[in-house]
Amino acid sequence: GLPSGQPDWPDLPSKVPAELVERDLASPAAIKAVEGHKYGNGHALVVSGGTGATGAARLAARAALRIGAGLVTLGVPMAARPEVAATITALMMRDVEDAPALEALLQDRRINALCLGPGMGLDRAAALVPEALAAGRGVVLDADALSAFAKAPATLFAAIGSGAAVLTPHDGEFARLFPDLAARLRGTPPHGPAYSRLDAVRDAARRSGAVVLLKGPTSVIAAPDGRVRIHAALRGRAAPWLATAGTGDVLAGLVTGMLARGFAPFDAVGMAAWLHVEAARGYGPGLISEDLPEAIPAVLRALQSSEAS
Ligand code: AMP
Ligand code: MG
Repeated sequence: GLPSGQPDWPDLPSKVPAELVERDLASPAAIKAVEGHKYGNGHALVVSGGTGATGAARLAARAALRIGAGLVTLGVPMAARPEVAATITALMMRDVEDAPALEALLQDRRINALCLGPGMGLDRAAALVPEALAAGRGVVLDADALSAFAKAPATLFAAIGSGAAVLTPHDGEFARLFPDLAARLRGTPPHGPAYSRLDAVRDAARRSGAVVLLKGPTSVIAAPDGRVRIHAALRGRAAPWLATAGTGDVLAGLVTGMLARGFAPFDAVGMAAWLHVEAARGYGPGLISEDLPEAIPAVLRALQSSEAS
């Protein structure tokens, strides 16, 4: 059953095996000091939307940097250059106008993790996601990169194949990609165990071939091989003030940064989800999404000192 002290989880099965409820997903490896050359910690590419829609990708990129990716590049369409250039410091910027431009950039084999979706717009996402998935790197798909495939989810799953893909949908995006699973969830009485979010995310991971993080007040994570995790920290001590614009983009960036650093997708997602909530805990109402990447160093420091003691 549930670990003692757990409140009711009406959206999960009444008997959740304790081993699925991970209270501390941050392994010491996640905080290992950055050693050696910066390329040793990977190179993340976050593909941005166009003018007026670059903020989401900038949030994700900053999160990837804070979590320790060695290099982080923003891929922007030409028209958005001035908007992005005015704000970047430790980030880099490259032109990514269309799929051929992305393909050309990915000739750089040091780029080992990609993030697509936040602020991209549906057309740009539809055009670039297949190219990203074909490149054989770690790929995080969020927001518009998910919604762009609402009409043909099977196309997306075919493109994922056996690659290292991570999908990070909220409930609405989940329902667009997996309408039948979402319908089964809705058909389950609120306190009944008939079909839970845990079942839904497990089925979604099997079907898509990706690691799936279904976001919400309780986040559930599944791998295609059937492994599942519930992020217990999101219940009870969690931060309802995370429900504000841009926090999901930060999470996508954290996952991307962990992939760049070389963590396997299922571990990268678990650690990122944990760090995301820890970063929010120091705040209260009034939290805005750009606070989160800036709070990561303090979380890492706290982890380091708890490991040392
Ligand atoms: P998005 O929907 O993409 O903006 O992502 C929202 C983020 O906030 C996700 O990481 C969710 O898990 C988190 N979140 C949303 N609502 C809540 C809530 N009520 N309590 C805790 N976390 C939440
Ligand atoms: Mg989002």
